Amino acid sequence: MEMLTIGAFAKACRLSPKALRLYDELDLLRPARVDPETGYRYYSVAQLEQARLVAWLRRLGMPLARIREVCALDDAGAAREIRAYWARVEAETAARRELATFLVDHLSSLSSPSRKDTTMLELRYCALSDRGLVRTANQDTAYAGARVLAVADGFGPGGAPASTAAVEALRYLDREPRPAGSVLNLLEDAVRGATEAVRDAAGTDAEVGTTLTAAVWTGSQLALVHIGDSRAYLLRDGGLFRITHDHTVVQSMIDEGRLTPEEASTHPQRALLLQALTGGDDTVVPDLRLQDARPGDRYLLCSDGLYGVVPDEEIRPLLASASAPDEAVQALVGAANAAGGPDNVSCVVADVMEAA
Ligand code: MN
Repeated sequence: MEMLTIGAFAKACRLSPKALRLYDELDLLRPARVDPETGYRYYSVAQLEQARLVAWLRRLGMPLARIREVCALDDAGAAREIRAYWARVEAETAARRELATFLVDHLSSLSSPSRKDTTMLELRYCALSDRGLVRTANQDTAYAGARVLAVADGFGPGGAPASTAAVEALRYLDREPRPAGSVLNLLEDAVRGATEAVRDAAGTDAEVGTTLTAAVWTGSQLALVHIGDSRAYLLRDGGLFRITHDHTVVQSMIDEGRLTPEEASTHPQRALLLQALTGGDDTVVPDLRLQDARPGDRYLLCSDGLYGVVPDEEIRPLLASASAPDEAVQALVGAANAAGGPDNVSCVVADVMEAA
């Protein structure tokens, strides 16, 4: 076997000797031979390919521990790991992009007068929560008011009090007049209030908690807060758009290309949450979104008891054909129960209207 000194090897793979010594210590790339007398490291020509792979993975921004795992795999396995790593980077970037968009929208709406100065908009709304046909209790909570819409899906032995507490913590927003330009404070307060309320209700048990998907009406926009696997949809110009991203293990597997949406719908662990409001976790990072309202928009907030058994293709016509929110929530809950009603089901529907 042809052996190269560390200097010659470093030159050939365009890594510094210092980097090679570090990779040796980190077990990323062991020299083929270490002279027991002098401690000099020698590398084989066959190791050049792996050294170059390490260098390329470093350039990709992959953490060292993950590079070690990739290098231990065969080519097909390494390809799969790199694909999964990159999908994760893109998902994280997408989440940050959404937050950036939210902040840009928020600051822009402060600096430029919006439509609400000429047209007054208001919400017409209805909430309905149902036990379903299988569960012995309803652990969902749904609420709709002139300024607050919310769906929470409690889980664990104290799930019902947890979802109730999260929604109760937001209801004060319906009673107090809201000062202008305070959307950020309001959302921060809403999330903190809901987190504390859930902890009070659930104790510090991480197995007990709730999802929360809520919208606060500002007069021209809906500010959305989202944690867990309940969802928000927008029906606009006849099209149905999902505007929240499920915080579930299966959704992250879809994002990483490891699972198709079809496989996800029957996956045994499809209910496993990556994020939720629980007594044991105070590191929750909710998704935030600012949605410009248009007259004619119809919003739907729902728990997984709806979309788990009623696919989007069926939700859309039910939502579109209902003449008013109360009719819509009854049709949607009815469809979930007609499909077996395996879970609690909650729906909130709100229409954006020009004020009378
Ligand atoms: Mn549920």
